[in-house]
Amino acid sequence: MKKLVVANWKMQLNIKNSLILAKKISQFNKYKSEVVICPDYTSLLLIAHILKKSKVFLGAQDSAINDYGAYTGEVSPLNLKTLGVKYVIIGHSERREHLHENSAVINAKIIAALNTNLIPILCVGEKLVEKEEGKTKSFLSEELRRALKNVKIKKASDLIIAYEPVWAISTNKASRSMAPSEADITQEFIKNRVAKILKKNIRVLYGGSVNLNNASDFLKQKNVDGLLVGAASLNVNDFNAICSI
Ligand code: PEP
Repeated sequence: MKKLVVANWKMQLNIKNSLILAKKISQFNKYKSEVVICPDYTSLLLIAHILKKSKVFLGAQDSAINDYGAYTGEVSPLNLKTLGVKYVIIGHSERREHLHENSAVINAKIIAALNTNLIPILCVGEKLVEKEEGKTKSFLSEELRRALKNVKIKKASDLIIAYEPVWAISTNKASRSMAPSEADITQEFIKNRVAKILKKNIRVLYGGSVNLNNASDFLKQKNVDGLLVGAASLNVNDFNAICSI
């Protein structure tokens, strides 16, 4: 199966630069991985048109718990699906930290996304304090149990996990890089936990300061099924090169 490389542009670009970047990525045709770009909401519709004839898929950075209703500021998963969105990032550590998203909300968002036939990319990862206290596995276990409560999927490809140790994300002031072999061990642990919960062998991506220098080492790992890329996805040459590994 092809590796999956997902670009998380966060809120880093204005609309003009989002469209330019999307166009350049869509015109490149030497990808070895399946490629997904996740722009901010304001660019989604225009980028959906740009990607129409390309092999690049569209992702969103979040979606709501309900399809429609009086939820000011929220974005309907059904409307995202109608726009041509295939994947949706759920539970990113920045939303957990800045918007206080908890496991119950994340769980509801996953269920709503699945009901709309979007493919959730559930982000999980320990903070530095949990790592230093030797609690990474117990933290991840509990987080997966809560986020996947009552979640049912028909096939393994219906859901993806992105393992993103919070301490390794590049925008984290004190970020450190994770060794690919260390990531592999944790990803194997996540796969086994999820297999117990969902009875499916789902894909697990790695995210956290991935760049052109380390991407191939991560992709070589047995339990790394792809990458979630933040900062390096904003550089078209680096991102295209990562997707061509
Ligand atoms: C992210 O925040 O999802 C991420 C992977 O960021 P970066 O690659 O910049 O560490």
